[in-house]
Amino acid sequence: MNSKQWFERAQKVIPGGVNSPVRAFNGVGGTPVYFKSGKGATVQTEDGTELIDFCGSWGPLILGHAREEIVEVVAKTAADGLTFGANTAQETQFAELLNTLVPSIEMSRLVSSGTEAVMTAIRLARGYTGRRKILKFEGCYHGHSDYLLVASGSGLLTGGISSSAGVSPSATEEVFVAPYNDLAAVQEILKANGDEIAAVIVEPMAGNMGLVKPVAGFLEGLRAATADSGTLLIFDEVINGFRLGPTTYGNLTGITPDLTTLGKIIGGGMPIGALGGSTKIMSHLAPLGPVYQAGTLSGNPVAVAAGMKTLELLRDENPYPKMEALGKRLADGIHRLATEKDLDLHCAQYGGMFTPFFRTAPVHNLDDSKACDQKAHARYFHHMLDAGFYTPPSGFEVAFVSAAHTQADIDGFIQAFENL
Ligand SMILES: *Cc1c(COP(=O)(O)O)cnc(C)c1O
Repeated sequence: MNSKQWFERAQKVIPGGVNSPVRAFNGVGGTPVYFKSGKGATVQTEDGTELIDFCGSWGPLILGHAREEIVEVVAKTAADGLTFGANTAQETQFAELLNTLVPSIEMSRLVSSGTEAVMTAIRLARGYTGRRKILKFEGCYHGHSDYLLVASGSGLLTGGISSSAGVSPSATEEVFVAPYNDLAAVQEILKANGDEIAAVIVEPMAGNMGLVKPVAGFLEGLRAATADSGTLLIFDEVINGFRLGPTTYGNLTGITPDLTTLGKIIGGGMPIGALGGSTKIMSHLAPLGPVYQAGTLSGNPVAVAAGMKTLELLRDENPYPKMEALGKRLADGIHRLATEKDLDLHCAQYGGMFTPFFRTAPVHNLDDSKACDQKAHARYFHHMLDAGFYTPPSGFEVAFVSAAHTQADIDGFIQAFENL
């Protein structure tokens, strides 16, 4: 059976045929590709084709598919027991490693997804401050919990909906929304309502409306304004933690949030999430404090082993300069061609992250991202797919260069782009 046949069969028993909406290709049209196996930068499909993968499972696979050391440690750990629901030594070692790599994370709690990490961080912020409201940014995605499905990014943009049915208005009423990179708007909201706002949550390098960098002074300004109003600052680093260096983006920039949420890379391909911060704040979590959180599979030994090995490899091998160089080569190549062919396009890139935005002007917020030509993105996506390159099937996502990509992969990508 090929992808088309599998997709037809899936639609009868899985809503939309997918277990996560963006996989349905609604943003680009056509039939979703069924993956069979992956190794390094390449995947094999049910159609018998081989693709160079720039999606990397939406972020976790910074070391490429089925990296040998990770597969080995997963197999070995699994053989010793898949789950205990009791403590293991490696959970402590993992928390110690996080603390070493991200000093502001004095204590951390493991959960099973990014959504769960953020949901818990919000509850903790409310419990800690005794305040009800939160502030988020348009186009930032923080998982699919109720409070955070207001003006969200990622799959919610592709679906053409800015929020979700089934979310109680009482949840969203407690959420202020500001445009990304608009510090003045945040300062105004905090000035008027700061004493009701438990937390400001932000993707310090936004990755769910395409790649949008923080403008100079934005994160510093958030830090100062939240400190003034006694509001916690949460950096949601589920997508960019350990992406740009063997630490968080907050730590790289020297801006210390009160809480950090992590996921994706820190599980090495297994389901995981984490939240962390100072001992003072984290001590409000159960069983030490009154903010409840629990999980049958939290700190799962196989996920912890895969994550630990991934972080160790990233620390020891430091593939970041290579990914940065390849990312820059790719973006430079695309810009050269866009100029030559007079395309309305701008490729945002930072380290190994990139998004070709189909408009020339840089993208600073959700309105800019929405102003891009989605039809042109869909044409680009299918053209690249036909040429053997898999990129995220949505114009509101980030593509990733992993440590497993080679210069030949990048040059092949640019060459394929040339015929667009
Ligand atoms: C992916 C993502 C999440 C949600 O993580 P899941 O593991 O998909 O639940 C939350 N925040 C950000 C910034 C993300 O990129």
